[in-house]
Amino acid sequence: MDATQATREVVKEMAAAMEEQRRYLTKLDSEIGDGDHGNNMNRGFQAALERLEDADPSTPADVLKTVSMALISKVGGAAGPLYGTAFLRASTALSDKEEVSAEDAAEALEAGLGGIKQRGKAEVGDKTIVDALEPAVEAAKEAAGEGSVAGVFRRSAEAAKEGAESTIPLTARRGRASYLGARAAGHQDPGATSTYMLLDAAARTLEGSS
Ligand code: ADP
Ligand code: MG
Repeated sequence: MDATQATREVVKEMAAAMEEQRRYLTKLDSEIGDGDHGNNMNRGFQAALERLEDADPSTPADVLKTVSMALISKVGGAAGPLYGTAFLRASTALSDKEEVSAEDAAEALEAGLGGIKQRGKAEVGDKTIVDALEPAVEAAKEAAGEGSVAGVFRRSAEAAKEGAESTIPLTARRGRASYLGARAAGHQDPGATSTYMLLDAAARTLEGSS
């Protein structure tokens, strides 16, 4: 399978994960937000699948850009534009490459994190996507030297899972949950959780196809 097709398969699995986890993500968001995160993510990824059918992208970067546009235009909440920016930055990082190395994958993830931090101004400890994605990027960079793209995503997903769990005791400093003050403590952040699920979907897809 070429890298463009593999990237499309990854997005398909991400969409399936968001559909499957829709209720759980919405439950997490109803505890510390407005209860729409699962629906937002599902709507965005279903739109991404539709656009991929129509656009028939020719490089991995084109696939990610198509996803980005769908997320930015179809998802109303905070997370849509943030994830949209991440996919767009990752797309730019891959440029016109037709193959994606482990290093390229780690760099694309790092570019995505940079976009989210620039747009959302969150740091680790603020109880957001960044709590999962920043350790995921660190793990991805360490794993890149071992040479497998699947390994990069597997290690980043493991780190993101831990990062998402680390949000449980925190109070939020960004996003809707920050209005709750201390009442946000004791609940896992929905966005950090969806970040883990997206990386896990990528890892599962690539492990299966190699
Ligand atoms: P909304 O908060 O508008 O309802 P969602 O429910 O889709 O949007 O997404 C909520 C998630 O967005 C939060 O759980 C958090 O992880 C993430 N988030 C919110 N603000 C920021 C930010 N500034 N930086 C990073 N992530 C953020
Ligand atoms: Mg919400």
